[in-house]
Amino acid sequence: MSPWLGKTAFMIGIIAMMIIRGPHGRRSGKVRIEESRKGRLEIALLAFMWIATLILPLLSIATPLLSFAEYPLYPAAFLFGFICLAVGLWLFYRSHADLGINWSISLELRENHRLVTCGVYRRIRHPMYTAIFLQAIAQALLLPNGLAGPACLIAFLVMFPLRIRPEESMMLGKFGDDYVSYIGRTKRLIPSVW
Ligand code: SAH
Repeated sequence: MSPWLGKTAFMIGIIAMMIIRGPHGRRSGKVRIEESRKGRLEIALLAFMWIATLILPLLSIATPLLSFAEYPLYPAAFLFGFICLAVGLWLFYRSHADLGINWSISLELRENHRLVTCGVYRRIRHPMYTAIFLQAIAQALLLPNGLAGPACLIAFLVMFPLRIRPEESMMLGKFGDDYVSYIGRTKRLIPSVW
């Protein structure tokens, strides 16, 4: 099937993610940051994610620079990628709505930061990362390019282990026993599994 179907679905997904995040970023950006753990590693990881989720895909879609790595798009890959994209977008939307002004792109605690344990946070502690993981699988399946396709999945697998530990230790420092008991009744990324 035409690779443009996959490329178009992927681009719609990226634009939808920006539309979902935009108002939340503006709203939470108005709330003072009380504690930040945004070190050099964190900035490097964020830059790495931008390159993997936006720059490489755009280079592969809008320029011939990465055309040497292209391969055909198969209907099964398109279908599974589309499902991952749709579920990922729903979870991305819900996790932003449930976190509200407590959301930050980086490791930060805001003024009057509240521990959210309801909605999509009821059974897993990192639904937004689950959503990004689904988006990364969608990218790998929808973009038939050996470099741009798997880039986000690789970036996620590097970023996630390096981010989750400092994030959970920051939350433990702020919410103490409440976070310990939250850890006790939830999984990290996949409900009832891990
Ligand atoms: N890891 C979460 C949130 C990602 S946004 C997820 O994947 O859904 C990152 C910010 O969210 C962190 O800086 C932290 O301040 C905040 N955060 C993470 N979990 C939270 C929770 N359960 N309640 C409130 N804020 C949380």
